[in-house]
Amino acid sequence: MHRIRGNLDSVRQRIARAAEAAGRDPGEITLVAVTKTYPAETINEGIEAGITIIGENRVQEAAGKYPRIGQRAQWHLVGHLQSNKAKKAVEIFSLIHSIDSVKLAQEVGRRAAERGKVQGVLLEVNTSGEAQKQGVEPDRTLEVLGEAGEIKGIRVMGLMTVGPLTGEVTKIRKAFEKLRTIFEEAGGLGLANVEMRHLSMGMSGDFELAIAEGSNMVRIGTAIFGSRA
Ligand SMILES: *Cc1c(COP(=O)(O)O)cnc(C)c1O
Repeated sequence: MHRIRGNLDSVRQRIARAAEAAGRDPGEITLVAVTKTYPAETINEGIEAGITIIGENRVQEAAGKYPRIGQRAQWHLVGHLQSNKAKKAVEIFSLIHSIDSVKLAQEVGRRAAERGKVQGVLLEVNTSGEAQKQGVEPDRTLEVLGEAGEIKGIRVMGLMTVGPLTGEVTKIRKAFEKLRTIFEEAGGLGLANVEMRHLSMGMSGDFELAIAEGSNMVRIGTAIFGSRA
């Protein structure tokens, strides 16, 4: 309990310092506490310590913990979504960060419309060019946004990326800079049903670089809860 509270305080301070260093208001940066692999008990301790948004990367795992946490926090899906889990996903999550194709957007929209819900989603972009990474190619992002904006049952609320797995700071910054550039460009197009509100980038190892490059939503797990077993 004390450890999570202490870690959370220190992450908040680091977010604030990174924001201030970039001349930004710390209050504009939303913290998503990534709770994958941690049990409901640990997550509830985090919620008591002040976490308001939790991020899970698998629908099934989230569904298993949901009964013991419920709406004490908002749920975000940060990991890859398979079409056959879309129905369950729209039941649990207020924001899905990982839409990476028009087809998946259509399935999520269809399932959300069945529930009478408009599902908030982000488009995931592969900014690192790493083959194993999910996400739309940067060059195709504007086109996919245009198509996603026409789908009933979803509302596109921004972009997400996972930074490259490297220790090279320049490479990481480049990837984040690329997403911010697309974010600004897309925001200026005035696409129907597409809002560039959330720029989701930055994890425990790189969130300060992401904030320096304009992130307003960071997804942080291990820096809060400790390393995963
Ligand atoms: C696990 C995960 C995170 C958090 O990673 P940490 O290194 O634990 O902070 C963020 N985003 C995604 C998509 C993840 O899968």
